[in-house]
Amino acid sequence: MTRLVVSLLAAVLLAPFAHAQEWGQVTTPAPGPTQSIGFYSAGCLQGAQALPLDGPGYEAIRISRNRYWGQPVTLDFVKRLSEQVRNAGQAQVYVGDIGQPRGGPMSFGHASHQVGLDVDIWFERQPGARRPPAEREQPRLRSLVRADDSGIDDAVFDDQHVAMLRLAATTPAVDRIFVNKWIKQRLCQTVAGSRAWLRKIVIWIGHDAHFHVRMYCPPGNPHCQPQAGYYEDDGCGEQLDLWFTRPPVRIPPPDAPKVPYRPKLPATCQAVLTAP
Ligand SMILES: [Zn+2]
Repeated sequence: MTRLVVSLLAAVLLAPFAHAQEWGQVTTPAPGPTQSIGFYSAGCLQGAQALPLDGPGYEAIRISRNRYWGQPVTLDFVKRLSEQVRNAGQAQVYVGDIGQPRGGPMSFGHASHQVGLDVDIWFERQPGARRPPAEREQPRLRSLVRADDSGIDDAVFDDQHVAMLRLAATTPAVDRIFVNKWIKQRLCQTVAGSRAWLRKIVIWIGHDAHFHVRMYCPPGNPHCQPQAGYYEDDGCGEQLDLWFTRPPVRIPPPDAPKVPYRPKLPATCQAVLTAP
C-alpha cells in the first residue's frame, strides 16, 4: 500500500473518534448553572460538579479517567446509596464512571453517560482499609455471572447485592437501572415481599460486574431529553424471556469491526465544549 493510501485510510478510521476525543480532552467543567442538554447518549453537561473522591460508605475508582463529574442529583444519589449501604453494615461501595467534565461522547467505554445523569456502581466492595485514589486504578471487580455466561456465579453473588439494588431502585430520582439478564432473572425468581422496585431493573448486555443507574431529568433542565418508559409490570414475564430466546441486542464478537459511535449533539453543546 502506498503511503497516501495508508494516510487516507488512517484519516477515515480516526476522524469519527476525533469528536469524542475533543470532549475527553477538556479537563474542567463549563461555567454556569448545572444543565443537562440533550439525551443520555447524545448530549452534554454545563456546570458539572465533581463527586468527592471519598465519602461515607464509598470511594471513587479509576480516577485517572476524570469521569467523576455529574449533576447534583446524581452525586446526591451516590452519597445517599453509600450511606444506606454502610448503615446496612456492608463494605464500601466502588463508584465508577459518571461523566466527563462537560459530559459529551466518550472515546471508549460507554455510549451514554453524556449528560451527567448516569453512574456505574460496582457489585464488588472495597475490602479492608481505604486506599489513596492513585491506588484505585485496577481494583478486583468480579462479575456476578459465570465466565461462560451460563448463569449466576453463586460464589460471588449474595444477598448484599440484592439489598444494594433494592436501595438504588427505590430512590425516587432514579429512572432505571441496567443489569445483566442473569441478574434480573435471579431477582425475578427470588425477591419476596414488595416487588414493585423490580420494574426499574432493566436488562442490558454486559452489566454483570457493575450496575448502571440512570437518573430522571431533574426539574429546571428544560433541554434534558427524558427516555421513554419501559416495563408496565415487574418485567419478569415476556420481557425477561425475550433475552433468553430472541435477545434484542447481542454482544458483538471480539473480532467484529468497531463501528465508531458519533451521535449528533444539540447545537448548544458546541458552546459548552468551547466555553473558557
Ligand atoms: Zn454505565
